[in-house]
Amino acid sequence: MHADVVVVGLGAFGSAALWRLAARGLNVVGVERQAIGHAFGSSHGTTRLFRVACMEHPGLTAIARKSLELWTALGEQTGETYVRQTGSLNVGGPTSRPVKGAQLAAAGGAPTMDLTHEELKAKYPQYNLEPGEVAVWDPGAGICYAERTVKAQVAEAERLGATVYPHTMVTAIEAGAEKVTVRTPTIEIEADQVVVCGGAWLRNLVPGLPLEPRRTPLFWFQAMDPDSEAFRLSNFPSFIWEFADGRGLWGHGSDEGFGVKLGLDGGRAETGFDADDLDRYIRPLDDIAELASAVHRAFPGLDPAPVKAIPCMVTDSPDGQFLVGRYDDRVLIGGGDSGHGFKHCAGIGELLAQATTKETPYTDVSFIDPQRF
Ligand SMILES: Cc1cc2nc3c(=O)[nH]c(=O)nc-3n(C[C@H](O)[C@H](O)[C@H](O)COP(=O)(O)OP(=O)(O)OC[C@H]3O[C@@H](n4cnc5c(N)ncnc54)[C@H](O)[C@@H]3O)c2cc1C
Repeated sequence: MHADVVVVGLGAFGSAALWRLAARGLNVVGVERQAIGHAFGSSHGTTRLFRVACMEHPGLTAIARKSLELWTALGEQTGETYVRQTGSLNVGGPTSRPVKGAQLAAAGGAPTMDLTHEELKAKYPQYNLEPGEVAVWDPGAGICYAERTVKAQVAEAERLGATVYPHTMVTAIEAGAEKVTVRTPTIEIEADQVVVCGGAWLRNLVPGLPLEPRRTPLFWFQAMDPDSEAFRLSNFPSFIWEFADGRGLWGHGSDEGFGVKLGLDGGRAETGFDADDLDRYIRPLDDIAELASAVHRAFPGLDPAPVKAIPCMVTDSPDGQFLVGRYDDRVLIGGGDSGHGFKHCAGIGELLAQATTKETPYTDVSFIDPQRF
């Protein structure tokens, strides 16, 4: 079988790359080891936070905006919603990473609004704030839908002519001077280029990349008072909050189809495993105790015992930024999500398609260039 481009791994990044390549009329083939929209990688669950004023790097604003633009257009076509812009709070001390990072993004062109301690306290009484804590409001932020979007990106790629092989594990990628060969137990594909988006398995597919999978379960909570509206998404929009001790919480309120979602930053990090060996059991002490104590301290109106938890993992790069772009003449990569990649995946898919076809990228990509390591 021959293709112009093969995309290996159809999670958030790979499904977007497949879609954007198919949109260019290329002969593209997508190969995914599991079902489309499966729960064994990094892109499952109902939602992810969507932010525009990204504390991780001011250059991410353009990529989030590109995702929003592409998802809005796709939604107009499919009748589905992929992003809900409810706004978002970056909370912490005036020099904390969420507050400083959002202010830096604002200086780079993301519209934001600073909230004083008193304004924050009055508007969001759910927060048990420490003295001096403030916030930056990111009005373009909100939530995005995870599994729904992965499935929609693959479906749109197929509609545009892409061929998709689910339940097909890539066992070797052999890049030569004339072509690249992608081997699986059932099919062999020869292509001009390959885009490898293997998530936590990317370092196995392209050896030598400085990537480290990190176990990061997803958790959902509910209000102490089941009739309370305080933790509904409309009253409790998405947020990132850094405490004085450097740890912090992120999450968003509940709505139809999903509960209050919260996670801990800066807690015990579990690394040093192969993605195939991820421990998929949730442990009361290691996983829940520290998170529950942070929830209890931060939001007294929430029951600190989670009502639902599922395993998940992120893939860290050394500087916390993605690895997106050309790796060598025939191999491109999209990975190193570092825990903040979903909101950018459509924009990343577009960048990968542009790199594949040697178009000028729509934004500066130096900070996510895989060659920087
Ligand atoms: C708990 C948690 C919370 C998060 N919160 C947010 C958030 O609020 N906002 C945000 O923007 N991001 C968030 N993220 C990060 C976001 O989910 C990831 O950035 C994104 O899902 C990464 O997608 P990916 O395509 O790199 O990986 P994946 O979705 O895992 O895709 C990789 C794919 O490659 C496939 N694959 C691997 N090996 C092979 C092979 N040999 N052959 C074929 N296929 C193969 C896998 O099966 C998988 O489908 C969060 C992540 C976690 C875990």
